Amino acid sequence: MHDTKSTAAVSGESGRRPEAKLVRNFIDGEYRDASGEGARWFDKRSPLDDSVIARVAEASRADVDAAVRAARAALAGPWGSLSIAQRVDLLYAVADGIERRFDDFLEAEVADTGKPASLARHIDIPRGAANFKIFADVVKNVPGESFEMTTPDGRGALNYAIRRPVGVVGVVCPWNLPLLLMTWKVGPALACGNTVVVKPSEETPQTAALLGEVMNAAGVPRGVYNVVHGFGPGSAGEFVTTHPGVNAITFTGETRTGAAIMKAAADGARPVSLEMGGKNAAIVFADCDFDAAIEGTLRSCFVNSGQVCLGTERIYVERPLFERFVAALKEGAERLRPGRPEDATTGMGPLISQEHRNKVLSYYRKAVELGATVVTGGGVPDMPADLRGGAWVQPTLWTGLGDDSPIAREEIFGPCALIMPFDSEEEVVRRANANEYGLATAIWTTNLARAHRVAGAIEVGIAWVNSWFLRDLRTAFGGAKQSGIGREGGVHSLEFYTELKNVCVKL
Ligand code: NAD
Repeated sequence: MHDTKSTAAVSGESGRRPEAKLVRNFIDGEYRDASGEGARWFDKRSPLDDSVIARVAEASRADVDAAVRAARAALAGPWGSLSIAQRVDLLYAVADGIERRFDDFLEAEVADTGKPASLARHIDIPRGAANFKIFADVVKNVPGESFEMTTPDGRGALNYAIRRPVGVVGVVCPWNLPLLLMTWKVGPALACGNTVVVKPSEETPQTAALLGEVMNAAGVPRGVYNVVHGFGPGSAGEFVTTHPGVNAITFTGETRTGAAIMKAAADGARPVSLEMGGKNAAIVFADCDFDAAIEGTLRSCFVNSGQVCLGTERIYVERPLFERFVAALKEGAERLRPGRPEDATTGMGPLISQEHRNKVLSYYRKAVELGATVVTGGGVPDMPADLRGGAWVQPTLWTGLGDDSPIAREEIFGPCALIMPFDSEEEVVRRANANEYGLATAIWTTNLARAHRVAGAIEVGIAWVNSWFLRDLRTAFGGAKQSGIGREGGVHSLEFYTELKNVCVKL
């Protein structure tokens, strides 16, 4: 049929179904078919039309064990003995490698997600490369702390801190921004001298696999970067997070999954970094720059078909502006044309899968049952015959429901938002905070004092004023409340990916 080991992430299948690509695990510097008990191939379907676009090797427990062992061996071997300068050079070479193969990454990401190519070209792939450079720069430049202390004998002591890698890091990733979110963890993990075993989402296996080729070409020692494909419970996700050879686990995904991973990490008291769900509010004051607020809110609701953890699903608009804001947002939503990724007029792609579409459509139905006014959308767009099997939904806006409704409380993760009026700053802060999540918020106002007050009072990890998704990668990123544990970004990533050791020297 085909080689069980290969140097290419993706290859054609020379057997029974010649059209399907094969996506393999990347273990110890080589591509491997799944092996041992539980090993099998699963289908990856296109979100555009539900056709099978690849067959993916589902890693068995034995495969995950091999990946963890390779990662441990690399720590003890050539990788562990590199200087920071040598590691930094390799990470820059990885970033350059992604840029050199930009079109391959673009094609793989777009095939897996169905997202507009223009979006992946501007965000997913460039950020995938940038994540290696920024963390290389951080580790190169970060200072350490030192304290001189006095002692009773008068001779004193000197304390200084040094950082060491935590070891093998398990990296469990979601499907919405696959390369970007995966490298956001792998970049700092490797910069700090760790090795990784990555479990990409079963929906988006291709770019993580492809990155193995770039690692090899850049000269990253084998075993430093490993990829195991599969699902969560009873599959690669569980095998990675329960493996005793994994020293720390970093996860991005749903809050419920994060809680399960935290339980798995309790065995062996291993640290976790969790980036989880959100139900993010936009707060629009009547004194805002109207056009900027509309443009920003349209993006925050609908970019990536609403499948962005930072996306807005609750919009609070100060009452004097309410009708005008709803009308303008409706007009903007109705301009978003669903279509093929490569078509320049495409404003929105499909959702990731039929399963996710069923979830989003169940909320669309529920909103109507609860008495919402559907401002626009609420169903499935009329697509050309060849795309009808895809996971398409309409961009959707509702009014007429309150904060208690599940539409205002639960994360839907689709291109939709509930718009609600408010009358005072104190009221809107209270209402925006009355939610179990606390990831991000966008505040739209020209009143500077109010912007600072509300940003300070809102219970989130990230507050934007007059913008959304504007990211300086040196800043802290993470969620409050049930949206996350820990912060990543800039020096904050070092807290998780290194052990800080204090050395106390008596003089
Ligand atoms: P998910 O939780 O379903 O899956 C995420 C990953 O976890 C996948 O790789 C999956 O296979 C794996 N997994 C599932 N169950 C597991 C288990 N029991 N043990 C180990 N691994 C397991 O999330 P998703 O549907 O892929 O992504 C969407 C979610 O991610 C949304 O809730 C979104 O808000 C969240 N998200 C958060 C951020 C953030 O930075 N806070 C960023 C992007 C997405």
